[in-house]
Amino acid sequence: MLISLSRLPADGLPFNHQYLAGELDTSEHEFEITALPLVIGRVDRAGMDMRVRGTVKSALVVTCDRCLTEVEVSVDAPFDLIYVPEDLGANQVGETELHDRDLDLVVYENEQINVDDLVLEQLELSLPTRVLCREDCRGLCSQCGADLNFEQCNCQKPIDPRWQALADLKNSSEEEN
Ligand SMILES: [Zn+2]
Ligand SMILES: [Zn+2]
Repeated sequence: MLISLSRLPADGLPFNHQYLAGELDTSEHEFEITALPLVIGRVDRAGMDMRVRGTVKSALVVTCDRCLTEVEVSVDAPFDLIYVPEDLGANQVGETELHDRDLDLVVYENEQINVDDLVLEQLELSLPTRVLCREDCRGLCSQCGADLNFEQCNCQKPIDPRWQALADLKNSSEEEN
């Protein structure tokens, strides 16, 4: 979905879009969409800049960092972005009043706001940095791949040399006492 800025009303433009299946290309992202995104927002002109505010709602599936099972993450992500024109872009940053505020800057081209890119970006940003199916997920055995949440395997745990050094230290201090 593209919003044309050439005929943007002086008092701004509200927008509202429910995505349909296949409308967003997520092939370059590490998530799958399970609830099609709804984006509600508005565009306001601020000189040459555009302020785009709103909310993206959706649900995504990502994989647990430890055991790779699928985890659903619901998204309700507010955004407040300043779009600067491509040709003026970098130089202008920091010069106008709006730029003094702690807002995210995005570049727009051809007098258009690409809402699809905005939505994909917000979905990406809304993912937690660490995804776990549950806080105490035991993960997969690094040797045989068994899911340790469900089974015990017979692999020997390799001893990390750093821990071995600590253990040796501890033993020798215990001997001294
Ligand atoms: Zn897990
Ligand atoms: Zn194993």
